[in-house]
Amino acid sequence: MSEKIERLKTVIIGSGPAGYTAAIYAARADLKPVMYTGMEPGGQLTTTTEVDNFPGYPEGIDGPTMMVQLQQQAERFGTDVRIGMVTAVELSDEIGGIHKLTIDDDKVIEAETVIISTGASAKYLNLPSEQRLRGGGVSACAVCDGFFYKGQDVAIVGGGDTAAEEASYLANICNKVTMLIRKDHMRASKAMQHRVNSLKNIDVRYNTEIDEVLGDQVVEGLRMVNNQTGKKEEIAITGLFIAIGHTPNTGIFKGQLDMDETGYILTQGKSTKTNKPGVFASGDAQDKEYRQAVTAAGTGCMAALDAERYLATVETPQEVV
Ligand code: NDP
Repeated sequence: MSEKIERLKTVIIGSGPAGYTAAIYAARADLKPVMYTGMEPGGQLTTTTEVDNFPGYPEGIDGPTMMVQLQQQAERFGTDVRIGMVTAVELSDEIGGIHKLTIDDDKVIEAETVIISTGASAKYLNLPSEQRLRGGGVSACAVCDGFFYKGQDVAIVGGGDTAAEEASYLANICNKVTMLIRKDHMRASKAMQHRVNSLKNIDVRYNTEIDEVLGDQVVEGLRMVNNQTGKKEEIAITGLFIAIGHTPNTGIFKGQLDMDETGYILTQGKSTKTNKPGVFASGDAQDKEYRQAVTAAGTGCMAALDAERYLATVETPQEVV
């Protein structure tokens, strides 16, 4: 006896600002969206404390509260929010084709449109002292958390464009920024290197890695080690920023969606369209450059509008039983 397969108009994968914004727009457009939240409902913002740069919150708001409010707003218009992981996908190549999604390695559902908002995860060094102090002075986002260290001494790890950009950002706010680069050169573009080198309060340390983050409840200092000489040195800091790259959460789409060499989904022109008809990508899964809650929300809105327009142009396929 065959079991009826659930057929949905729009499935949103991921529950960060991109996903919830897509849900608000899709629900209001009567696309009856179903959202699968993923393993970390609310996404990266739930690991942040205060969000001060999302427009409309003059007093700031803490990340988890903001995500609860976004969920309530999405549900108010009828979004069906389900706790679950999409663990496999079979995306159709046909215009008007049906996409198959497997939930928690078990249930299969069918979707006429799919909005991907699976986000990205910041990479950490994975030192025990660093992991213990996450949220206690260790952060992976200078733009989000730098303000809390105004006038203080901080350190940043990494030598790419993100680290260089964030070091410059921090230098404007903080008293001193120590930048730890594991090689004898910076990977960042020449322009960014110039910017870092022109700022007097950034102390660049090459061939330098973290031996241990010091502090019990909060970051109080850092023991650095020169990987050429083995010489160790301790400095006092109150904030440590890890800027060694992000990994987009796009593994389940590999081989089906066009991506860049680091796994960010490629979208067409200014739209959120992927190379598969009816599949749209929003938020950090397709953005390695801006990565802000507000930009993610913007692309979530775009994805819902793109899905709505797409559905208006295709014939509704027959339901499979
Ligand atoms: P990148 O991968 O370019 O750089 C990561 C940096 O972290 C490298 O310096 C790397 O060192 C270092 N690193 C990695 N692992 C460790 C570790 N375990 N310990 C210490 N250091 C480590 O990542 P980004 O986030 O900087 O940039 C990602 C992409 O986004 C790039 O293409 C970049 O150009 C782009 N970007 C562009 C911007 C712009 O144009 N305005 C702004 C931000 C990003 P090593 O060099 O030794 O490998």
